[in-house]
Amino acid sequence: MKIGVIAVQGDVREHLRALERLGVKAVAVRKPADLEGVAGLVFPGGESTAIWRLLKWSGLVEPIEQLHRSGIPFFGTCAGMILLAREIVNWPERFFGFIDIAVERNASGRQVDSFETELEVKGVGRVPAVFIRAPYIRRVGPGVEVLAECQGHPVMAREGKVLVASFHPELTEDLRVYELFLTMCG
Ligand code: GLN
Repeated sequence: MKIGVIAVQGDVREHLRALERLGVKAVAVRKPADLEGVAGLVFPGGESTAIWRLLKWSGLVEPIEQLHRSGIPFFGTCAGMILLAREIVNWPERFFGFIDIAVERNASGRQVDSFETELEVKGVGRVPAVFIRAPYIRRVGPGVEVLAECQGHPVMAREGKVLVASFHPELTEDLRVYELFLTMCG
C-alpha cells in the first residue's frame, strides 16, 4: 500500500518515518504526479496558511479535490486538520472543507504553551498526544464522530473517509492512530 504525505511545508519527515515503520510505502507529495496510485493522503502539521499557499502554487489543490471525490481517505494533523475543516472560526478563509467541523486556530495557546498529555481515543485506547499551537474543534456536523477530547475540547474526529487530529501522532513512538487511518485505507 502506498500513502502520500503532503510535503510542501511542515513536519513531513516524521510522518514518512512513522508510515514506513508500519511497513507501508510512504511518498512525499510535492507535485500532482506524486499522487499517482496513493491509497491515502496525510496532511502534516506546520502552518496551514503557508501549506495552502504552496499547494495552490504547486497545482495540487485540484488533484487533491479529485482524489477526495474518488473516495481516497485523508488524515490531517494539526495544520492538516485546519486545511481539511469546513470552517475556521478565527480566520477569514477556509481551505479544502472536506470535513464538517469548525476549528479555532492556535486554540491550545502559543508555542511556549505546547504540552504533551495522554488521550483516550475511541476504538484505539490511551495514546500520548503532543499539542503545539493546536486547533480545537468548536462545532461538529451531524455526520461527524468525535474520537477524542482534551480538557473537554474535541481534538480528533472522523467523517466518512476523513480523519483529523489536533495533535501530532508522528512525534511519538505510538503508531496506533496511524493504524486506525491505515484500516480506513483498506
Ligand atoms: N497553528 C498552526 C496553524 O494555524 C498549526 C500548528 C501545528 O501544525 N503545529 O496552521
